[in-house]
Amino acid sequence: MPRPIHAQIHTEALRHNLARARQSSPDARVWAVVKANAYGHGIERVYEGLRGADGFALLDLDEARRLRGLGWRGPILLLEGVFEQRDLELCSSLDLWHVVHCEQQIDMLAVHKTHGPHRVFLKMNSGMNRLGFRPAHYRAAWTRLNALPQVDEISHMTHFSDADGPVGIAQQVAVFNAATQDLPGERSLSNSAAVLRHMGPRAAAALRSDWVRPGILLYGASPDHPEHGPAHWGLQPAMSLRSRIIGVQQLQPGDAVGYGSTYRAAAPMRIGIVACGYADGYLRASAGGAERGTPVLVDGVLTRTVGRVSMDLITVDLTPLPAAGMGSEVTLWGRAGNGAVLPIDDVALAGGSVGYELMCALAPRVPVEVVA
Ligand SMILES: *Cc1c(COP(=O)(O)O)cnc(C)c1O
Repeated sequence: MPRPIHAQIHTEALRHNLARARQSSPDARVWAVVKANAYGHGIERVYEGLRGADGFALLDLDEARRLRGLGWRGPILLLEGVFEQRDLELCSSLDLWHVVHCEQQIDMLAVHKTHGPHRVFLKMNSGMNRLGFRPAHYRAAWTRLNALPQVDEISHMTHFSDADGPVGIAQQVAVFNAATQDLPGERSLSNSAAVLRHMGPRAAAALRSDWVRPGILLYGASPDHPEHGPAHWGLQPAMSLRSRIIGVQQLQPGDAVGYGSTYRAAAPMRIGIVACGYADGYLRASAGGAERGTPVLVDGVLTRTVGRVSMDLITVDLTPLPAAGMGSEVTLWGRAGNGAVLPIDDVALAGGSVGYELMCALAPRVPVEVVA
């Protein structure tokens, strides 16, 4: 029997979450963002659940090639555009749309011998100060692109730094709208947080997004946790990570657990030893410390880790679970066998991280199965 840890990808949950994105942006087309191998879920594994999207957005040419290999003929957008001249050949041959965020990418296009004109998304730095043309230079970049025979259609795009928090998006939207006001072309603005938090007729009018770009919400994690959890947004976990108890220890008062003896039992207690560790992608850090641990479900019932996370094992408190023991099901995040859900966001928070990082870090040694 293989080591009992395994992940499940829930196709129905992906479909449900995609429908949630559509419901929040009824007039926009949806780019399903599948960068980082679909946020760690695997492009091939999420394809069935997300193929109802209008397009796929990602960073990596190899991932784009894999999507074409799966039979996807619709739009694919390279969110960071090309990294070198010859990438443009692949954009032509794989029919990829690509972001243009800097002068060097326009230079490359200008000398590219294309098979057919390219569709590009011109990116504005509306305040986040990562990629994109500053508003004052945006029109000149557009004019230069527009004069190139290699370019067919130019869309407008920007990315929000604070859609998930109190600062909000109004300032960036105003900057973007002012700089694109009389330019023709489609527009793409919203990530998951903007899709969920900045909806309704008034926001929709200002945002005027022809294409929205949700990522994290598709996978059933919340973009603005801990303010709102995934249940608040009606999202379902697309990934469950499960394992089993492979050992049990009965502790006496004063007994310690794990490396560094960071946890000591105050009273007699039973602990379960679980086949999961940081080499599986579980976070070693625990913000609650060795005492408070990280939430975990045993037989679908909430309990916590005690002591340090090691490479292959964690230790969990079985006090609330007198019937649990060898072989009991452990859900590290996602849905348990009894239907209970432990949001990946809660697990990440206990480790001082976010759901995004945790799902992207699922280790290659964990077997993954796609289920309905
Ligand atoms: C990753 C990414 C997104 C998706 O962000 P989420 O917060 O996961 O919804 C959207 N747009 C761009 C440019 C991105 O890089």
